[in-house]
Amino acid sequence: MVSLEYFGATDAGKVRSNNEDSLLAGRGTDKTLFVVADGIGGFEAGEVASSITTEILEDLAPGDSLEEAIQRANRKILAVARSDRQFSGMGTTVVALRFSNSTAEVAHVGDSRAYLLRGGQLQQLTEDHSLVTELIRSGDITRAQAADHPQRNLITRALGAEEDVQVDVRSFKVQLADRILLCSDGLTDMVSEPEIARILKEPGDSKEVSQRLVDAALDAGGADNITVVVVDVKDTEPGPSRDRTAEIPVAVPRRSRDAGAARSTKREERRGGRVKRTLKALVRTLLVVVLLSAALTPAYLWASSRYFLGFDQGVVVIYRGLPYAPLGFKLNQEWQRTNLQESRINQPYRQQISEHRLYSKDSAEAIVRDLQSK
Ligand code: MG
Repeated sequence: MVSLEYFGATDAGKVRSNNEDSLLAGRGTDKTLFVVADGIGGFEAGEVASSITTEILEDLAPGDSLEEAIQRANRKILAVARSDRQFSGMGTTVVALRFSNSTAEVAHVGDSRAYLLRGGQLQQLTEDHSLVTELIRSGDITRAQAADHPQRNLITRALGAEEDVQVDVRSFKVQLADRILLCSDGLTDMVSEPEIARILKEPGDSKEVSQRLVDAALDAGGADNITVVVVDVKDTEPGPSRDRTAEIPVAVPRRSRDAGAARSTKREERRGGRVKRTLKALVRTLLVVVLLSAALTPAYLWASSRYFLGFDQGVVVIYRGLPYAPLGFKLNQEWQRTNLQESRINQPYRQQISEHRLYSKDSAEAIVRDLQSK
């Protein structure tokens, strides 16, 4: 018999007092549905947004559209945010995994991720909707630079941002011994991918592995809430861990030639000619520009972080927007020119200004006031 063995673990981490992440594993109407959501918004509003999402998905019946349920969660978050000022501006990411017959479906919005470990290889199934991912795609920064980029937590898509949200959905054929991980950025920001792969490959069931992943993020500093769900596709009878197993309705083939949707897509890309690739690159670059300019609208970018400081002609300037200009298309404008001389700015402020950290308007003004009083 083919079964899913799973475990979900979450921890507030070492810095934050509350946990704004939510997870769903084995509690839903559809027992093969697994969800991780990472809430955004102060004063516990993020917690509300992420739990609205898991509550709505909990009621999803097998066969119903996952994408529509996520859209429904988006509208509910917006409605609650509009009805009560304390929840205004709240949002959440979501990554959901569901099995049906021998197929797994992955849907996501934001930077919570899904990974597949198959044959010892770790493959990321989702592509973050984040500023740094767009910048990697446009060639503005490298993957290595993204890892400690000051704006790495800025997401360009979230539930609760606007009326319609685009949900990315993909599916792949499941194989026995597949191990799938869903996680919030509290894991991926703290633990490198090779280290995640190493832990996932270690002997141990989904519960042991989940706890090791959370521990690794905590050992690395636990700067954010950490949530992981690990799902194993097994061919064993449900054993003592019956409470966290779910049956997949139809048998998974023991051997499959389909090594996953991502690999076949790559093959097709290789077949395509140079012209096609160049065109693709052009379209993608244009898309990035459109996306990044959309990121300037409050609906996409959290209003709390759209100002940054910079040096211009020897003085400190406050800019509104994002510190980038892909293809020469500037994504910011000067907002306030100060009388602070660049030569008189010392560390650590000098570095913060040079690396264009993003702030709320109030924080940017507070920093300038602080510097003026020195
Ligand atoms: Mg997080």
